Amino acid sequence: MLRSALIAASRSAGCRTLVERTPLLRPIVDRFVAGSDVDAAIRIAHELSRDRLVTLDHLGEDTLDRGQAEQTVEAYRTVLARLADEGLGGRAEVSVKLSALGQALPVDGDKIALDNTRRICEAAAAAGTTVTVDMEDHTTTDSTLGIVRALRVDFPGTGTVLQAYLKRTEADCADFAGPGSRIRLCKGAYDEPASAAYRDRSEVDASYVRCLKVLMNGQGYPMVATHDTRLIDIAEHLAAEAGRARDTYEFQMLYGVRPQVQEQLAGRGLRMRVYVPYGTEWYPYFMRRLGERPANLTFFLQALARRG
Ligand SMILES: Cc1cc2nc3c(=O)[nH]c(=O)nc-3n(C[C@H](O)[C@H](O)[C@H](O)COP(=O)(O)OP(=O)(O)OC[C@H]3O[C@@H](n4cnc5c(N)ncnc54)[C@H](O)[C@@H]3O)c2cc1C
Repeated sequence: MLRSALIAASRSAGCRTLVERTPLLRPIVDRFVAGSDVDAAIRIAHELSRDRLVTLDHLGEDTLDRGQAEQTVEAYRTVLARLADEGLGGRAEVSVKLSALGQALPVDGDKIALDNTRRICEAAAAAGTTVTVDMEDHTTTDSTLGIVRALRVDFPGTGTVLQAYLKRTEADCADFAGPGSRIRLCKGAYDEPASAAYRDRSEVDASYVRCLKVLMNGQGYPMVATHDTRLIDIAEHLAAEAGRARDTYEFQMLYGVRPQVQEQLAGRGLRMRVYVPYGTEWYPYFMRRLGERPANLTFFLQALARRG
């Protein structure tokens, strides 16, 4: 209920203005967002890559403006060139949201998003790294998976995301578990209808385990994106049961969430990747993070109350 309200607020212009104009919220935003520009992102990538892998995400989504989609491509080309210059290509990749690259444009959205993402994949290949395509709400799943399939013809290392809360995902895991396939499995962050998604937490967790079984027993490279330590234990167990070496799968967590657990997993020699968002368009991402933990919301409401 609360989570649904925050996800709705993430799309409200009024709430956005209120949140963006409240300086007291800045420390909470800074916990989840690396900074507003590429220099901040590269600095954090250097710090984290001492013991972890990194994914950089240039924040932005839901554009209906072709010029803005073009600017997003340029932002990714810039950060990828910096990764190459700084020798970080082997430790850091990028994640993109297709809705920031034109997917939702009313005419030829899929084609424009594919062409734009292809240009980012070319820049990533030149920098010696890869691209993972984030997954957004369920109305975009077919389009996103279609675009990923097309990208993989020339860039087989392109990763994609499957969301365990969707009822279709176990079947998608089987489809995508082929050789070399990089799949990030997460629970899912959007407010989805019961017709498409499990809404009960225990059902989502059970689906996550079923999907993990498919991915760990497949021939691809599973990327286990969760902060849920029970699921992390199960993933390790399933990987061992499937006879997987430690370099054939990885764990992923978000910047600012459970950093000690990240360090512990990395310290045990497991592959641990941190998803690091940066940029000025942090509002929708931030609101989704607030909804994931009641304590985050308490800090947020206290800061808003002090503003008054
Ligand atoms: C690397 C990565 C990439 C992702 N990419 C996508 C994507 O492309 N599409 C998509 O829909 N979703 C994505 N997500 C978000 C994901 O779907 C979940 O919404 C989010 O990870 C919370 O689920 P959880 O698995 O951590 O489990 P939960 O049950 O939500 O959390 C388990 C525990 O982790 C801690 N925790 C979790 N979230 C937070 C938080 N925000 N703040 C503080 N503590 C927290 C809490 O202690 C909580 O009890 C991604 C997540 C990760 C880690």
